[in-house]
Amino acid sequence: MLIFDAHLDLAWNALEWNRDLLQPVSTIRDFEQQFPGCVPGDATTTLPALRKGNIGIVIATLLPRFERTHAPRTFYQSRVSAFAAMQGQLAWYRTMCDAGQMAELSDVTMLNSHIDSLQNRVSDSSAPVGFILSMEGSWAVPDPSYVERWYNMGLRILGPAHYGPDDYGHGTGSEGGLKEKGPELLREMDRVGMLLDVTHLSDDCFWEALDIYTGPVLASHHNSRTLVPGDRQLTDEQVRTLLQRDAVIGLALDSWMIRPGWVRGKTDPQTVCLADAVDHIDHICQLAGTTKHCGIGSDLDGGFGKEQCPHDLETIADLQKIADILSERDYSDDDIAGIMHGNWIDFFRRAWG
Ligand SMILES: [Zn+2]
Repeated sequence: MLIFDAHLDLAWNALEWNRDLLQPVSTIRDFEQQFPGCVPGDATTTLPALRKGNIGIVIATLLPRFERTHAPRTFYQSRVSAFAAMQGQLAWYRTMCDAGQMAELSDVTMLNSHIDSLQNRVSDSSAPVGFILSMEGSWAVPDPSYVERWYNMGLRILGPAHYGPDDYGHGTGSEGGLKEKGPELLREMDRVGMLLDVTHLSDDCFWEALDIYTGPVLASHHNSRTLVPGDRQLTDEQVRTLLQRDAVIGLALDSWMIRPGWVRGKTDPQTVCLADAVDHIDHICQLAGTTKHCGIGSDLDGGFGKEQCPHDLETIADLQKIADILSERDYSDDDIAGIMHGNWIDFFRRAWG
């Protein structure tokens, strides 16, 4: 079963965590064992693991974030630095493309031809992993005029906020709406065709952004607040609004977003399994009355490792187990294919028509 994963921070892992993503997961874990406490957990995601799991398309981010030990230094101290650093992450993706390891998909023609090429994938273990370029947070957008510049450099999706407040608005863990330049940023995104990722927007920003922005909307890696309290998850009211906008919502696999009360570094990893994660898909499907708005946005390389994932996931290749769990819950083959890849592909075909 082909899988579309709508949220991975591949270049960030390659550059900020100095991981060679052409290696197997086991090689990275063996190497990093020498540096306990200095790495974001036991790696689960590399290109060989993506291929093993038939994860043939991803949304891959530019993530302007680094030093994680001291919170105030997590963000670049200037937007110019963040902008420049993201040229480095972009160069990593482009070099992977030159090497035939990845394929950048920035319009519907490229998307369709990549999907055609995936038909031969089973017998071709070196096939490139397709990716659509996104940016998590707008720290590397020095002012709204850079939206068009980024679009011309290949960026197709922007999540205006990440953690905490930003010059454009508020993100996860902070309260408040858009700031002075936020509306201009959103109008510029609308004008150039940059898709809006609502994941990480504060509640006020979520509603304000959807009032201003008229284009296609996605929630790349986002679970249900009915199942897990907290502003990182979507309320049912937010989900209903996203359904009206024909959005797709990607299931995130970070344990604290799957199970209420799960505490990083404290809760026994064995207490969360993939079936718990699938409960979030199930909740949204029941709310929607259709499976068409659910997908996967694993975030499996988002600054944590196996110790913060469902215990029955060893590497990202185990995303395949989600199809089996859906099947056990009597989802039809068509619905399962939609959740595993089809709904995201349809979303981009609509968005890029
Ligand atoms: Zn995130």
